[in-house]
Amino acid sequence: MLTTLSQSSLQDYVDCARRFQLRYVDRLSYPAIESEPTLENEKHQQEGEYFHRLVQQYLVGIQAEQISKLAAARTPNLQRWWENFLNAKDLTGFKNLSGLYPEATLSAPLGGFRLLAKYDLIAIDNNKATIYDWKTYRKRPRNEFLSARMQTRVYRALLVHAGAHLNHNKSFEPEQIEMIYWFSDFPNEPARFAYTSAQYKRDWDLLLKLSDEIKHASDYPLTDDRTKCLYCPYRSYCERGVRAGDMDQADPQGEMEAEELFDVNFEQIGEIAF
Ligand code: SF4
Repeated sequence: MLTTLSQSSLQDYVDCARRFQLRYVDRLSYPAIESEPTLENEKHQQEGEYFHRLVQQYLVGIQAEQISKLAAARTPNLQRWWENFLNAKDLTGFKNLSGLYPEATLSAPLGGFRLLAKYDLIAIDNNKATIYDWKTYRKRPRNEFLSARMQTRVYRALLVHAGAHLNHNKSFEPEQIEMIYWFSDFPNEPARFAYTSAQYKRDWDLLLKLSDEIKHASDYPLTDDRTKCLYCPYRSYCERGVRAGDMDQADPQGEMEAEELFDVNFEQIGEIAF
């Protein structure tokens, strides 16, 4: 029985109720390769996971030089991403912050479910909370695209709702919160999203509405937007094609949704030996 919701399951539900059903209710494993060219995409996904591990290790105190050696020994992409990270203006002040919470997990009841989010980093400084999310996308998404994603909405709303223990047991005001997506291949073009009380109310109302819909759903219709099917791993179940979409021919929005398929899931990241 489904008990937990996350930004990814909610994004699936918003994109296509059938995909949500297949992935989270029926728990079907991926039956189709997600996109072409397969090997290149798999390699990119593994590099993305490894990059997240390197940054985690840095944030818990491993020396940058040690991590640089690991990155250099691995792949040119990892070496470049790591150098970009170390040189990024916004990221170098971390060591001076009073509160760093890498890999923080927050959760709260939501309707009949538990809403869960795993953050790459929450940094608290002078009563301001900044949510960082590392992205190893090959393209820089438009801010409008990111602003509407469930991740942007869930991460900020949940920090207001369930982050009091990070703020002397007092809930953060939405205005104290900012979310920053930092792109390893576009290090000087982070996407920043401030927050307001009105946005928080809008987001939490939406989350309650979605959880209620999911709780009472008796059927899960296929999306009418067939571009969502291009990269969907379940398209053979829905008779919406067998071959995966070619990333080079995708429309800009589809391209970004395809990139998201390679997003790093913390549960997949194991320990790294130093
Ligand atoms: S193939 Fe299309 S209709 Fe089927 S689950 Fe995927 S997005 Fe939904």
